[in-house]
Amino acid sequence: MTKDIRTPAIETAVIEWREGVPRSTRFDDLYFSREDGLEESRHVFIGHNRLAERFSRVPAGGSFVIAETGFGSGLNFLAAWQTWEASSPGENACLHFVSAERYPLERKDLTRALALWPELGEYADQLLEHYPAPVRGVHRLVLAGGRVRLTLFFGDVLEAWRELDFQADAWFLDGFAPAKNPGMWQEAAITALRSHSRAGTTIATFTAAGEVRRLLAKAGFTMRKTPGYGRKLEMLTGELPTVSGDGSIDGATPTPSIAIIGAGIAGSLLARNLAKRGLDVTLIDQAPQAGTAASGNCQGALYVKLGVEFNDQAKLGLSSLLFSQRYYSQYGGHHWHPTGLIQLAYSAAEADRQGRFTARNDYPPTVLRAVDADEASRLAGIPLQSGGLWFPDSGWLEPGKLCRALVNHPRISHCYGFRVHRLTPCNGKWHIAGNGEQDVVADRVVICAGHLSPTLIPLRNEFRFRTIRGQVSHLPESSLNNPAVVLCGPGYINPAHNGTALTGATFDLHDHSPVLSAESHRENLSMLASMVPSILSGSAEEADPALLEGKVGFRCTTHDYQPVAGPLHDAAGRHLEGIDLFTGLGSKGLSYAPLLAEYLADRITGQPGCLPLSLARRVATQRCLKRETPQTETIGA
Ligand code: SAM
Repeated sequence: MTKDIRTPAIETAVIEWREGVPRSTRFDDLYFSREDGLEESRHVFIGHNRLAERFSRVPAGGSFVIAETGFGSGLNFLAAWQTWEASSPGENACLHFVSAERYPLERKDLTRALALWPELGEYADQLLEHYPAPVRGVHRLVLAGGRVRLTLFFGDVLEAWRELDFQADAWFLDGFAPAKNPGMWQEAAITALRSHSRAGTTIATFTAAGEVRRLLAKAGFTMRKTPGYGRKLEMLTGELPTVSGDGSIDGATPTPSIAIIGAGIAGSLLARNLAKRGLDVTLIDQAPQAGTAASGNCQGALYVKLGVEFNDQAKLGLSSLLFSQRYYSQYGGHHWHPTGLIQLAYSAAEADRQGRFTARNDYPPTVLRAVDADEASRLAGIPLQSGGLWFPDSGWLEPGKLCRALVNHPRISHCYGFRVHRLTPCNGKWHIAGNGEQDVVADRVVICAGHLSPTLIPLRNEFRFRTIRGQVSHLPESSLNNPAVVLCGPGYINPAHNGTALTGATFDLHDHSPVLSAESHRENLSMLASMVPSILSGSAEEADPALLEGKVGFRCTTHDYQPVAGPLHDAAGRHLEGIDLFTGLGSKGLSYAPLLAEYLADRITGQPGCLPLSLARRVATQRCLKRETPQTETIGA
């Protein structure tokens, strides 16, 4: 049965194993041949795109983009990755591999298929470790410490080329035989390749079908037949003509200097991401160190609330959650605690919403699943009166410490204690003036200053941002029935760490006081008691809230509670060059920030985007202007 494309799960491949080789029953074709699948991949795709030689010419900080139709078992990807590692590209250069897959292999099939190639074992292990759950949309995997990025689109190839933002240097066309899978080779799919190709892009495919050659030629590629691998007499290879006749390679332009204002979770993640791509970053904050303001809590839950409809908002939440879970498990070190998280059905209304959510959606259980009160209690290790949604790979972080660990990188210089009061464009650069300090001058600037961001935007437009005070309370472990997992509802509570559990947070639109208040502590305790009635011990209920410790932070929220990441536009819709905004994360910064930092770093370095165009529009800054305007032209810095 075909799955509804308005729900998250995607149909997986139906595999039959023939003498140990995977065969698609849907397409009646083999993924590769048993004796020589790897050699055939090397001959057809690696060799005819001249990858070893072209990889070795990628300069420091540059990138090379391969795009593929049909990810299948990832054999071509791993073969390209192995060639990349052996070809000594420049320092911090990145191989981007963009691949569309309509029927992803299930993990067990992928594991079995890749076990056939022991020499690719170290790469296969990394792919398997981060291989995404079968949900539709874009999955970005950052591998080999950032030397390799895989953008895996789970969906039809036509949708992939419509939604993804990239320019390929080389193409692998590998979508089963045209006679067995005509959809993959239809004219619209082949025409779309042209708009994602640079001048000089090369192309290779195992098929020699005349119709494929004709369509590729019509799309502008110069094609020729050449001997195929083994018993296959012929295959096709070609290129998109260039002026110079030489394949273009990205990254030869000088890398820009970047200033980031705000060293919270957004700024710290972005600084780290850009530094690892080889850019020099100046990180500015008025505080004496990173991760002190809203990101400075000792605990924070990794949590998104997915809507009943699988719309763009839910897709952004899901992609952010899955990317951040992968990110923190790779780079969060001991500041990441993947305990799992339960979104409790704490009230009749929420139980009803969750009922509609689970009836409407088909999330794989590795992402989330409904649990009843008994199972929820078993998972949490304490009695719970309600069930909820269980997110097995989520958990909690120590965000302040994580920020400080992230910004510790030789390419990041720190400008702390620097209170920015003006941003001025001058001769193609941005001058950032503080109180008496020397200006910081940079080619580009990104404003990630949380609720202070609107005051720094060098435009007279009015933005629809709101500041919301949030106070968290620190509860002594001794006063709790300590949960083993994060519990969320109207607020949240984390498992105690070093004797304290953080709970909260208040949501105060009109209170702007930075001082801890007993009233806010009381609010947190009553929220907690309503969410998990048995969690507080009797002595805690009697304790004086005024004596509790805690922290006040200010969130920056947009009118639609969705984050903002991207270039600034003025009221006339003109794009302001060299300046981006990254804020509006509300109380979901830990979940949104890793993916949006990756997205902004993709944009700043001109590398393939990790967000589909529909979601890039969802986070665009224009929607936060009080008077939303169309995007028309660009004005210089
Ligand atoms: N490149 C793969 C490898 O290295 O293992 C082998 C690819 S296999 C020969 C062809 C793949 O194309 C299959 O995984 C199939 O599910 C996928 N496919 C078929 N039709 C598709 C479509 N319309 N859009 C996206 N992927 C499609």
